[in-house]
This record gives sequence, structure tokens and C-alpha cells, in this order.
Amino acid sequence: MSIRNEFPLLKNNPELVYLDSAATTQKPEAVLSALESYYRENNANVHRSLYSLAERSTEALENARKRVSSFLNAAAFREIIFTRGATEALNLAAWSLSELLVNEGDIILTSHMEHHANFVPWQQAAFRKKARLLLVPAEPDGTLNLEFLNELEKDGQAGRVKIAAVGHVSNAFGTVHPVKSFSRWCRKRNIPLVLDAAQSIAHLPLDVQQLGVDFLAFSGHKVYGPMGSGVLWGREKWLEKMPPWQTGGEMISMVKPEKTTWNELPYKFEAGTPDVAAAAGLSAALQWMTDKGLARLRDRERELESYAFQKLTGLGALKLYGPSDLSRRCSVFSFNLEGIHSHDVAQLLDRENVAIRSGHHCAQPAMRLLGIPSTARASFAVYNTVEDVDRLSDALKRVQEFF
Ligand code: PMP
Repeated sequence: MSIRNEFPLLKNNPELVYLDSAATTQKPEAVLSALESYYRENNANVHRSLYSLAERSTEALENARKRVSSFLNAAAFREIIFTRGATEALNLAAWSLSELLVNEGDIILTSHMEHHANFVPWQQAAFRKKARLLLVPAEPDGTLNLEFLNELEKDGQAGRVKIAAVGHVSNAFGTVHPVKSFSRWCRKRNIPLVLDAAQSIAHLPLDVQQLGVDFLAFSGHKVYGPMGSGVLWGREKWLEKMPPWQTGGEMISMVKPEKTTWNELPYKFEAGTPDVAAAAGLSAALQWMTDKGLARLRDRERELESYAFQKLTGLGALKLYGPSDLSRRCSVFSFNLEGIHSHDVAQLLDRENVAIRSGHHCAQPAMRLLGIPSTARASFAVYNTVEDVDRLSDALKRVQEFF
């Protein structure tokens, strides 16, 4: 069976060219059936019960945690915290880490190129702590200028940096950021580096030991899993010291009117009833990818991206944003057709059943810095085909003719 046919929504809509996987991916049959079988066979609340059904439900949650842990090569599954998505994971990290580490006059370092989910929580933490939000500058092609880190060193500001946060892949331009160089700099100074992996989780190898980061956040729905599933991975040495972000049931050890103590990791950060079905669905998605062969899936995507790059750059009067070096790009093609608003492009493409996104892509600081009000964005995933690229390119030609 072709990969596309393993995704019921795509199989049932043979005319649809789905090029909005950076917003959310479609779900394979394996994930849909994991969701359904959880509710049909295992549904009960977790952890607090001694009957078998509740034990099965708890097992489903904890097995999902183990699968995520091995997918990321985490040191322990205690380091995997389930959240509703990347946004919640980043809010948790921003609130709790800033409580632990940031004082008045300190610096939180991030960049112009972030999705709002990895920008606003740090900005608000900086406001709350009377700290400074410092932004790594970007080049016109959206790549980060890490020379800035050496400048921080020279002018004596590096010592004030208490947390750094960066995206792995820009959802607006598809730029792959130099995480390893960033993490080497942070490690030397014992600064925790938070990686927003929302756009890389489905496409790039994510081995947290190799990347050298301290936290990693992603959403399950961007990696063929369900909406409402997400993860914050963090190194135990930080998580142990961080205060809980949300409080309530499950996350406590002992509650008295005068004092509450916290549960052990990871439960300290998982207040309330978790979305077990979402975790089971996410686990099925990661298992599905692993069974297909991660390297094989990636090679397939790379080939298609290279073809899309050729086709798009071959169209006249099309401005493609992001690096011209394909090895520094991933999945996302952001562009404008000369003289035509990106919303018009997206609407006309929709008439031909080609689904792309248009707008500022929740990255206003990046768009403002580069002076681009909006772009059309086509983003690829494992189910896309050469025919999809041809349909996109032909439809774009017709848009140009129309105007
Ligand atoms: N970071 C990046 C880079 C993203 O692309 C997104 C989603 N577009 C997020 C964070 C937030 O993900 P979610 O809305 O699933 O929480």
C-alpha cells in the first residue's frame, strides 16, 4: 500500500493535494485505531485505582511515555512530561524555569525567528521577572547570526543570560537553525537551552543527547499523532529543581491545609487527568514512523523537497524565502508571487484542491524583521508525492496567468 493510502482522509479524497502539514499532519489508520481502541477497550482514569481496567489505562499512558522517551533518546522516562501540545510545553518551561533561575536585570535569550509559542511565554516571563528579553539577530534569509553570542561574551553580558530558547526549524521559512552550535555555547555556561521542536519532530532525527539541549517541546499533531497530545522533555537535573507550573490532583505527594508537597517526576508536572487516548495515539504515530523506517521516510522527504525546490525556483516571478542551500531547509516552502497577495494565491489554489496556508504564520517578529507582511506556505510530509508538487506548480502558473 502507498504511504498516502495509509491516511484515510487522503485516501478518501484522491483529488486533495494537502500541503499544510506544518500546521497539522494527517493521521494514519494506525493512529485512528489506537485512539478508538483506547476508548473501546481501556478507558478508565489512571494511577489511582487497583482494578485491572484502570491498570490497563495506566499502562497505556506509561507505555506511551516510554516510547516517546526512546524516540528522543532521553536518559529516563521520568524526563517525559505529557502536555496538550508544544504551546503548553513551552509555557510550562518558561514559567517554571524563570521562577527558578531569573532575577531582575537577568537576560532571557531567544530569537526573532520564533513561532509566537516560543516567543510570547519568554517575553512575559521577562516582564514578570523584570528581566531583559534579548533576541539573536537573523540574516535576510532567516538564518540566525550566532556571532551575536561571541559579542555577548565580549561586552560582558553573557554572564547575565539565565535561559536560552530557540526553534529547531522555522515554521515561517523552513530554516533549520544551528542547534548544536547554540547548545555548545549554552553548555559551557550551564545555561539551559529549550528547543522548540514542533517543526522538526516529523522530519529530522531528534536525539536529545546529540543535540545537547536541556529541554525539547513538540506537539503530537504535527507528527501524525492526535491533537491534544504533546511533550516537554527536560533533563532531570533541571526538572527536579523546577517548581510545578499547575497544581491540583495527581501532582501532589501530601496535602495538608498548611502545606503541600510534590509528587515525583514526571507527575509533579502533570496536574489533573491526562489525555491518555491522545498519548496512546501519539505513541502509535511514533511507532508507525519507526516501523516504516525513519531514515527511509526522511530520504523520501528530502527527495521530494529537492524536487519542489527546483520546481518553485523555476517559476518566474516567484520569490522563495529562506536559505538557498537545501541542507539548511526542512519541509516548508514560503513564497510570494510578484504582485499577488498570498491570500489570493491560497484561495485560487483551493479551487484546484491544493491546500496551502497564507499569512504571518504566528511569527510576527520574524516577518516584521524581514519586512514581509505575509507569505504563501506549502509544507510537505511523508504522504506527499511528485504529483502533488506538479499540481502545486501547475496551479501556481495558472494563478499567474489569471492575474
Ligand atoms: N512552534 C512552532 C515552530 C510551531 O510551528 C507551532 C505550531 N504552528 C508551535 C510551536 C505551537 O504548536 P501548537 O499550536 O500545536 O501548540
